[in-house]
Amino acid sequence: MNVGAETVEAVESLVADVYVSHAGLAGRAAELVRRAEAAGDRRHADLGRLVVAELHNRGGRVAEGVRQAREVLAGTDDRIVVAHAHAVIAGGLWRIGDNADAVRHAYPANRMLVDGDPPVLRVDHAIILALQVNDQRIGGISHEEFRAAQELADAAGVPALILANLNNWAWCSYTHGDLQSAAALVQRMREHSAATGEPLNASCADTVARILLETGRSAEATAVIEQAVASAQPTDSDAIPAAMITLADIQRREGNIGTALRTLEECRRTAARDHLPDVDALALRMIAGCHAELGDFRAAYQEMVDFHEAWTLRRSERSEVVARVAHAQYAVDEAQRTTERFREMAERDALTGLWNRRRSDAHLAAALDEPAAARGPVSVALLDLDHFKLINDTFSHAAGDVVLRRVAAILAEADGHAGRHGGEEFILILNVDRAEAARRCEALRAAIHAYAWESVAAGLRVTASIGLAVLRPGDDAHSVVRRADENLYAAKRAGRNRLIAE
Ligand code: GH3
Ligand code: MG
Ligand code: MG
Repeated sequence: MNVGAETVEAVESLVADVYVSHAGLAGRAAELVRRAEAAGDRRHADLGRLVVAELHNRGGRVAEGVRQAREVLAGTDDRIVVAHAHAVIAGGLWRIGDNADAVRHAYPANRMLVDGDPPVLRVDHAIILALQVNDQRIGGISHEEFRAAQELADAAGVPALILANLNNWAWCSYTHGDLQSAAALVQRMREHSAATGEPLNASCADTVARILLETGRSAEATAVIEQAVASAQPTDSDAIPAAMITLADIQRREGNIGTALRTLEECRRTAARDHLPDVDALALRMIAGCHAELGDFRAAYQEMVDFHEAWTLRRSERSEVVARVAHAQYAVDEAQRTTERFREMAERDALTGLWNRRRSDAHLAAALDEPAAARGPVSVALLDLDHFKLINDTFSHAAGDVVLRRVAAILAEADGHAGRHGGEEFILILNVDRAEAARRCEALRAAIHAYAWESVAAGLRVTASIGLAVLRPGDDAHSVVRRADENLYAAKRAGRNRLIAE
């Protein structure tokens, strides 16, 4: 067996380069396997195969990556190969959320290597162990394993590995609520990147931006993440879409909800293309939050969002991830439905269910906004109940409320926009000409007059006065409503229970 120094170096640089960029690595790994096999060097052929498996894992093809690594593991008793196969399996299992099994492989991967073994492999395995120990750890971060990995990485002097461990360390500190450590580690990452010229990959940039954002430095966070999305290499299939989620979060917090939604939609396209249901679920959840903010019904949704969040946090197996996405989609649909419902409720009068004044004003303004040729005739009627104060005083306020509701029900039949304008005053906006509008208003007046009010209270009689105005050239919403009001006042003066149309 002839193990050239060249081959050892090739393996080490491949394992390190996986952390930087995947471009060209599959070809280099295949070439290594071919050369090592030709030289009868099984160790390096297997290590080359494990690089290929690792690329599958990071490319979103974990089932294939883990299968290949297990195959290598089953066919060898070479200590270094066994250790590295465990490391690759641990990484793959972790990526699909099987943390418990990942830790079981991360320990032997780390323990089986000793002083004098290839430094890059030792760092790689120490990084994986530190991440596995901390990722799903309950009750605070354990810095010890990260510190050990960092010592090995610093000794090996490979910038990408130094950054990779700092990245995991910072991220875990952050997710465990240790923002102070996270901020210090991010500072180290930026300094190291600046000093060595090693750019922050998408995953590192995501961590840096997230923590800058949490420490109130959102402008710097935006710059880091935009640069990463535009140019940095992804070293994991989900690194760029994950960075886009952070970018959307920054945009949302700065109040640019529309921009955030566009970023999230783009993120979802990437997630769909690369089969990343986890990222998709995160994007969906944030979309739900954006919708809530847009409609300003945050409180109404909070419950839904919280529920969904709790649900998303449950890391689980692939089948559950699929269910998670389905649920997230459901949550978004619900959010949209709730938005619609609340938006409508906000424009309805609570007592009568008719449109409220705000909505009626908007409706009229929108109608007048249309060009005259397109909109056709517009008639505006104001209807006010006669001596309503007396009705309240005589029959009780509750009876008055019932009257308002019954009148509203009659108005709602009028085939136009019916709104409660205030107290016992209603507005009716009809897209018909004067003659037809007058005919309908007169029918309304007669219907109110003839209604069986005795069913509400013995001796109760209700009438209404109506003023009608028809839109003229040069009118605005104000002037046409004012003329309707003048006609209403004239109807009152003329003895009530009548229509005055211009
Ligand atoms: P007019 O024929 O000149 O319109 O006399 P009116 O008594 O109807 O007019 P006025 O404006 O003096 O009184 C309106 C009354 O409507 C006073 C107020 O208490 C009553 N009102 C306003 N909103 C409500 C409501 O939601 N429910 C009830 N029951 N009464 C209301
Ligand atoms: Mg009245
Ligand atoms: Mg009134």
